[in-house]
Amino acid sequence: MRTVLVNCRMVDGTGAAAISDAAVVVEDDRLAWCGPARDPGRPPAQAGDTVVDLGGLTVLPGLFNVHVHLGLRLPFPERRADPFTPGYRVMLNYRRALEAILAGTTSLRIVGEPYFTDIDVREAIGRGLLPGPRITCAGHALIATGGHGHNSVGCLEADGPDAFRRAAREQLRAGADLIKICLTGGIGTPRESATDKQMTDDEVRAVVEVAHSAGKRVASHTGGDRAVGDAVRLGVDCIEHGYSFGDATAARMAEAGTFLVPTLCVTQELDYMRRHGVQEWMLGKAKAAAAEHLASITRAAARGVTLCVGTDLLPSDPVDGTVATIREVELLTRVGLSPLEAIRAATASSARLCGTDRITGTLEAGKQADLIAVAGRPDERIADLREVRLVMKAGAVYRSRVDGVPDPGLDRLGAAMAGGTFARLW
Ligand SMILES: [Zn+2]
Repeated sequence: MRTVLVNCRMVDGTGAAAISDAAVVVEDDRLAWCGPARDPGRPPAQAGDTVVDLGGLTVLPGLFNVHVHLGLRLPFPERRADPFTPGYRVMLNYRRALEAILAGTTSLRIVGEPYFTDIDVREAIGRGLLPGPRITCAGHALIATGGHGHNSVGCLEADGPDAFRRAAREQLRAGADLIKICLTGGIGTPRESATDKQMTDDEVRAVVEVAHSAGKRVASHTGGDRAVGDAVRLGVDCIEHGYSFGDATAARMAEAGTFLVPTLCVTQELDYMRRHGVQEWMLGKAKAAAAEHLASITRAAARGVTLCVGTDLLPSDPVDGTVATIREVELLTRVGLSPLEAIRAATASSARLCGTDRITGTLEAGKQADLIAVAGRPDERIADLREVRLVMKAGAVYRSRVDGVPDPGLDRLGAAMAGGTFARLW
């Protein structure tokens, strides 16, 4: 079955300028062709084509959110305790994955969940058992005993290279796509600073060796110039948060090709935290880190480090009049990225980080038809990304406000979907 999207603009995700009059040909689950509507290479119309007039909307690749905890619960408990059973958590995580895609986030990278619930959700969606976004995931986050996230059931404590090796192998055995570690303290755990180093070099090296031997990447929750520099030197592939680091370290990240997921929402959206009852100690830490976080990420952007889009918050959480994923893309324009570069961070760059760039992340013939259409010109005014009118993954429509494209009504299931149901839905 072929659907031809016409009368639209197209931003392909590579950073290239928008095509002002584009056509996008979707055949079954794939993009059969896309480009300028008058391109001589455009395939001729066929009997049975469904032609959809998008009325000037801009088509982009589906967005990524590459730092997600679908079991997120705020305020964070100060000690480890889980009110949920593993089965309930799977359902909660699935529900939130579905909300994410309805809000335009077609790919997720999950970086710390208990009981391998992330892997269960990935499998159920990947096998076509249930509709949902593409997922790559880490299983548990690996931490030192008493380290960052010890108050969360999604973190697994280990000590010494052997124990970290074993913990990493356990995640791989369960089917993890990457390994997540917490090299330093952070904001969501009491009695630690975001720049405290909590893992030794030997422990980091052990995890990197195990992951790389299996062809997987290592993502490290890291704050502080010394720790970020150590992570890069030890072969970590991606820095998560990067709360503070200097220009020389930014240059080393760029040179090493280390990815950076800034999660600016964590330090820039304090109203969100207040609304969700976050304790004073956590608010104070986020506030204290905010300016330096922004400055550090600005240094990284200026040095050409590859930035990606991740939020820690649920992708569909309402933040500042939009949803978390889109708010984070907007925040990237505050650290020096152009709107086109911010869109590339949320699409092509994030796909590269996830290792799914051969099938998604840009609009190119042969890739999966993962796309959104928005009203306006987000490549010129990033806030136009808020106006999502169509969400498609692998050629299937998840949400439509476009004439001629029936809305499947997924957002009417269960509680009313208004771009996130975070606080109310347990
Ligand atoms: Zn996180």
